[in-house]
Amino acid sequence: MTENSILDVAIIGGGPGGLAAGIYGARALMNVAMFERLGVGGEAAKTDVIENYPGFEAPINGFELMMKFQSQAERFGLDIRYEEVIETDLSQPLKKIITTEGEYLAKSVIFSTGSHHRHLDVPGEVEYAGKGVSYCATCDGAFFKDMTVCVVGGGDSSVKEAVYLTRFAKKVYIIHRRQEFRAEKITMDIAKKNPKIEFIVDTIVEEIVGTPERGVTGVKLFNKVENRKSELETDGVFIFVGMLPNVEVISEEDKKLILDEGGYIKTDVNCKTPIDGVYAIGDVRAQSKRQVAVAVGDGVTALMDAEGYVEKSFH
Ligand code: NAP
Repeated sequence: MTENSILDVAIIGGGPGGLAAGIYGARALMNVAMFERLGVGGEAAKTDVIENYPGFEAPINGFELMMKFQSQAERFGLDIRYEEVIETDLSQPLKKIITTEGEYLAKSVIFSTGSHHRHLDVPGEVEYAGKGVSYCATCDGAFFKDMTVCVVGGGDSSVKEAVYLTRFAKKVYIIHRRQEFRAEKITMDIAKKNPKIEFIVDTIVEEIVGTPERGVTGVKLFNKVENRKSELETDGVFIFVGMLPNVEVISEEDKKLILDEGGYIKTDVNCKTPIDGVYAIGDVRAQSKRQVAVAVGDGVTALMDAEGYVEKSFH
C-alpha cells in the first residue's frame, strides 16, 4: 500500500477482533491495513492463560495465542502498520484516518479499539496484577478453587461476577463504597441468597497487600461511615469498578452519531454503526460479551459486511 492509495478497509486496533477481520480481508485480497499503536493482541495478549478459546484443548498463554493470530494474518499479507491513530473523520463516504505517521483515506473503517478497566488506583494494584489482582472472573476464576476472593464494585459486573466466582471460591466478599448498589435487583437477590457471598458496604479498599512469592494475601479496608480501618485476608481481588471504551480517536461530531449513553459504539447485528461503512467490533462495541471468541466473530462479521458495502458503493 502506498500512503496515497485508498484503502478498502482500515482496521483500527490490533486485538483478536482486528486480527480476525484482517485475516479475512487480506485473504479476500482487499486493500486492507490494520493500525496498531503498540504490539498486536490487545488485552488478550496480557492474559496469562486462556483456556476457553475453542480449538485449543490445553490452556494457552494469551500472548502466544495472539502471536498465532498475527502469523496467520501475515501469511495472507495483512499490512500491519505500527502507527497510532490520533483522529478520524467519518463524515464523508471516504473516511479519513490520521495517524502519527500520516493520513489515509478508507472506504470503510472497523473500530476494534477495545476498552480498558477503570482502575482503583490503590497501592498494590499494579504490583499484583496477574498475581491475585484480576479484572476478569471468566478468565481467572478457576484459579481460585476453594480459596477466598474479594470483588470490588457495586454494579452489575461486580455482583454477577461475584456469583460466578462462588463456583470456585469457598468465600466471596463484595466490597462496595456505598450502601446502595447499582446492580439490578434480580442480580442482588441472587447474590444475597448465596451463602458463600458476604457484603462489605460503605467501605473502600485502601491497599492490596501480598508477597512476591504468594501474590495477594489481603486488603486494607476503610469503613467511611464507622471511620474504621481493618484488614481482610484474601487470595484474590477482582476489580469491577466500570469499563472505559477506547473512543478518543472519534471526532465529537461522529461520537454524537455512533456512541450510546455509556460511551460505547452502537452497532446492528452486522456490527455496523449508524454511519454507513463504519463498524465496531469486540469490547468497544455496545453489549459486547468481552470474550476473544466473540471479538473474532465480530471481526469476521464486520469484514464480510464491509466487503459487500465497498463492492456495492464504490464500483
Ligand atoms: P458500573 O455500573 O459503572 O458500576 C461500577 C461500580 O464500581 C459502581 O458501583 C461504582 O460505585 C463502583 N466504583 C467506581 N469507581 C470506583 C472506585 N474508584 N472505587 C470503588 N468503587 C468504584 O459498571 P459495571 O458494573 O461494569 O457495568 C457497566 C454497564 O454494563 C452498566 O450499565 C451495567 O448495567 C452493564 N452490565 C450489564 C450486565 C447485565 O448482564 N445486564 C452485566 C454487566 C454489566 P458507585 O455505585 O458508588 O458509583
